[in-house]
Amino acid sequence: MKQKKRKKGYTQVYTGNGKGKTTAAIGLSIRAAGAGLKVFIAQFIKMGDYSEIKALKRFSDLITVEQFGLGRFTNGKPTPEDIKAAQQGLERVKSVLASNEYNIIVLEEANVAVNLGLIVVQDLLGLIIQKPYDTELVITGRGASPMVIEKADLVTEMKPVKHYFQKGVPARLGIEK
Ligand code: ATP
Ligand code: MG
Repeated sequence: MKQKKRKKGYTQVYTGNGKGKTTAAIGLSIRAAGAGLKVFIAQFIKMGDYSEIKALKRFSDLITVEQFGLGRFTNGKPTPEDIKAAQQGLERVKSVLASNEYNIIVLEEANVAVNLGLIVVQDLLGLIIQKPYDTELVITGRGASPMVIEKADLVTEMKPVKHYFQKGVPARLGIEK
């Protein structure tokens, strides 16, 4: 029998200050599920029932979401608990990558986790290096490290030409959260 050729998976980064990083990753996940691919989404920073989490539960046979943030980053300095949660996320992603059970792994807001000092950039780079040949890795969050950008195959920088946030419009249910 002819052996099926393993298709190469790439590393993608969605960064920048404009809107669309998280929604691009969710959109990709839905598209992938439509093709029968399995997706693992690790959410750093966030914790809570965001609308996208609720929506993705409808695809629970193909899309798994796990949260590794304590969801309270109002005044900057992370607590040891915040760091511990992010580190647990890192370990979980390592074992998920090693299992080779998923076609796509999304590291949601991982760039922000690096910038806040919750994980070190070397660990994030390690995941890119560790990923199986046919796994697609998607890293989101503003302020991607130049080292991550260097290692990635696709980098999209969302540029805020205009954003109503600047006019004081907070995150709206179903639109931004
Ligand atoms: P989306 O989830 O809609 O795709 P995103 O993932 O690109 O957006 P994030 O960087 O995760 O956006 O931003 C999260 C929230 O921060 C936004 O929904 C918005 O309420 C708020 N925000 C937007 N622009 C800014 C800004 N320039 N500075 C600080 N906060 C912002
Ligand atoms: Mg986001």
